[in-house]
Amino acid sequence: MSNLVKLSLKKLKSQNILNPELDLRILLNNSKKKNNELFLSTLNEEEINKIKFEKYLSRRLGHEPISKILNKKNFWKYEFYVNYNVLDPRPETEFIIEESLYYIKNRKKHLNILDIGTGSGCLSVSLAKEFLNSKILAIDISQKAILVAKKNILKHGCNNQIEAKVLSFSKVYGSFDLIVSNPPYLSTKEYLSTHHDIKKFEPKIALFGGFDGLTFYKAYAKKLPNIMKKNAFLILEIGEKQASNCIKIFNNSGLKLIKKSKDLQKKDRILVFSKI
Ligand code: GLN
Repeated sequence: MSNLVKLSLKKLKSQNILNPELDLRILLNNSKKKNNELFLSTLNEEEINKIKFEKYLSRRLGHEPISKILNKKNFWKYEFYVNYNVLDPRPETEFIIEESLYYIKNRKKHLNILDIGTGSGCLSVSLAKEFLNSKILAIDISQKAILVAKKNILKHGCNNQIEAKVLSFSKVYGSFDLIVSNPPYLSTKEYLSTHHDIKKFEPKIALFGGFDGLTFYKAYAKKLPNIMKKNAFLILEIGEKQASNCIKIFNNSGLKLIKKSKDLQKKDRILVFSKI
C-alpha cells in the first residue's frame, strides 16, 4: 500500500471518521488525473492531483461531509449539486417520490405540483422526471437555496417543467394535484442534540421547526387544503416522533390521512393525506 494511503488512513482514523477507507477512496477518485477507477491497495501516487487531494483530505479531517466537499449528492436516480445553503438530500426523503408513484399511477397525467421548501430541488427534479407532463412550482424562502435548485433544474434539463422561486407557501395561490414538502421539523431540544457536524455544515433554516418542531405542519393544515384540488395528495416528511401530533394537527382540516409510512430504519417518516 502506498505511503500516501497509509498516512491518510491514519489521519482519518485519528479524527474518528466513521468510514475512513471508503471516504479515502472517494476523495482519491475525485482527485485523479485520468478516468480510471483507483483502488487503495494498488494506488500509484502519480495518478492523482496531490494538491487537490490534500485540500479535500484536510476538509474531511475537519469533519466536513463528503457531499459538501465535492458539491454533490445522489438522490433517487440523479446526482444533485449541493452546498452549505441546502440540506443534503437524504434517502428517507426518497419515500416521498415512492408514495407519489404509488398514489398517482398515470405517469402521463398533466399534474400541477407544489414543492414547499425545495432546497436543492431534489424532489422537484425527481418528480419532473417521473411525471413528464407535470408542471411544478418549487418554492423556498431562502434565496441561496433557490439558486442551488435552479442549478439542479438546469443540470437535469427540467426548466420547461419547473419554476423555482423565492416565495412563502402562505403566498401561493392555485389548485394543485400534489403537494410535497420536507419542512424543517426538529424541535429546539432535537436541534440542540443534533450531531455537531450536521449543525456546522447544514443550514439551520432547513432543520429547525420551532420550539416543538411542528410550526410548519400547523401552518400547512390551515393553508394547504385551500390550494388543493378534490382528491389531491399532500405528502409530507415528518420527524420520527411526530406522527400522532401531525395527524391531530390535520384533523378537521379538510384532508384525510391515507397512509403513514416508515423509513429504512423503521421510523415513522412519511404521511400521505388526500383532500376530501
Ligand atoms: N432528518 C433530518 C435530520 O435530522 C431533518 C430534516 C428536516 O428537518 N426536514 O438531519
